[in-house]
Amino acid sequence: MPGLFDIHIDEIPQAGLDRSSDLPEGWLASHLGSAYRSTGKPETIRAHVRREGNNVLVTATLKGEVRFECSRCADAGIRSLDLAVKALFVPQDATHIHLEDMDMSADGLEGMFEYTGRTFSIEPPLAEAVVFAFEDYPLCTEDCAGLCPTCGRNLNSETCECGTPGKDSPFAALGKLKNTLARK
Ligand SMILES: [Zn+2]
Ligand SMILES: [Zn+2]
Repeated sequence: MPGLFDIHIDEIPQAGLDRSSDLPEGWLASHLGSAYRSTGKPETIRAHVRREGNNVLVTATLKGEVRFECSRCADAGIRSLDLAVKALFVPQDATHIHLEDMDMSADGLEGMFEYTGRTFSIEPPLAEAVVFAFEDYPLCTEDCAGLCPTCGRNLNSETCECGTPGKDSPFAALGKLKNTLARK
């Protein structure tokens, strides 16, 4: 049985091929990087595949959501993904490609991919687009204050005295020592 991403070029009808489906579970998170996790909710793809000669144009929309931990404060966050991808597949031995024949502009074109044989996977440009959809080190908010490196308090919602010498800080201890020495 051919997989979700597999295309047989001779089986693309004149009007094109539509494929709407759930993505494999966790597919989005697996391409986004280690900061992201699947929420377990359905992730979907709607793809249209069109053939002109031996060129194949894939336009697809990927949707879903992922969760992440803020890389400064470790708070949990959710990102929704709604990604449009457009990629052109050309035969590996193609000598020239007429984009104008494809009735398409380079607008939003993810890139050009080569295929060999009659069957190939449209997954690479989709996965590539997802990789670049979000940053590697996500933040809950752009100006997240992070955690205090000394006491670990979340500085978005709490304050601490670590920045200024408080009674429990090493500086306070030094101060006490100084006072003791001075008295002797
Ligand atoms: Zn944060
Ligand atoms: Zn602190």
